[in-house]
Amino acid sequence: MSVFEWMDAPRADFAVVGDPVEHSLSPAMHQAAYAALGIHRSFVAIRVKQGDLKKALNHMGKIGYVGANVTLPLKEEAAAWAKDPEPFVVRTNSANAIRFVDGGAINTDAPAFLETLAQLNVPHGATVLLLGAGGAARALAVALEDAGYRLRLFNRTAEKAKAMTKSLALKAELLKEPDPSGAAAIVNATSASISGASVPVQWQRGTRGAIAYDLAYGSELSLFLLHAGLAGMKVVDGREMLIAQGARSFEWWLGGRAPVEAMRQAVL
Ligand code: NDP
Repeated sequence: MSVFEWMDAPRADFAVVGDPVEHSLSPAMHQAAYAALGIHRSFVAIRVKQGDLKKALNHMGKIGYVGANVTLPLKEEAAAWAKDPEPFVVRTNSANAIRFVDGGAINTDAPAFLETLAQLNVPHGATVLLLGAGGAARALAVALEDAGYRLRLFNRTAEKAKAMTKSLALKAELLKEPDPSGAAAIVNATSASISGASVPVQWQRGTRGAIAYDLAYGSELSLFLLHAGLAGMKVVDGREMLIAQGARSFEWWLGGRAPVEAMRQAVL
């Protein structure tokens, strides 16, 4: 897939912006949706480095883009750019879909994630261990607590998890070690898998049959999911969440129903 630098962004309708962004299946997924509905729209991938999002989005707005999905590590910058953020974005400081016409910003990661967790039969009230304290983790933490899950949090940089807990007024238990005991689901909302790194979960303490959910996706199983599978967990990657968040973004930008099955076929 070709990736454009934001200064060289081609004329198109939609984009996914981030750094790195070459791993993203969003262009293929949205192009499949347009083809299924017979509509003439285009969706490209654009690299935007941390700190450059405001300049990049202002440029893209000027050359005619309609909307963009925002991926790592830019979700906080996207929330700051928005002129008309939805309340959840204001609360979490994390936006993953923006619209140029009105400066709108929404978070489709959180409802998409909850939708997939329900499909996996993780009951409300269950304990979830969430790894990470970036844009995705912020949104998921709030959504999980709002939905009644008992949250445990671990992040490589402990101060960041502490600051996140405080600023989001989370009830979450902050862990010093990534201990999965008693958790019905362990959710990797770090970007470790994107860079081929592993996260140091104490797998021997996990419950066999619990869900190990990596938000990342790729052609190969991540080290997180590989280790989880060896420990007897049920492994789930981020594709269904990608589809669910993409469908919600599509519907917000274009109205009507997203052709979810065509989108799924493009990424599975
Ligand atoms: P951010 O850059 O905002 O946050 C990155 C987080 O990962 C930080 O908590 C950081 O910890 C942690 N981290 C990075 N490298 C490592 C490592 N080697 N070991 C342990 N922790 C690490 O990213 P986002 O929150 O935007 O995205 C996180 C992940 O979720 C990405 O892989 C992204 O692709 C995926 N995602 C997938 C979606 C989907 O639809 N499937 C939707 C949203 C996100 P520290 O604070 O210590 O630096």
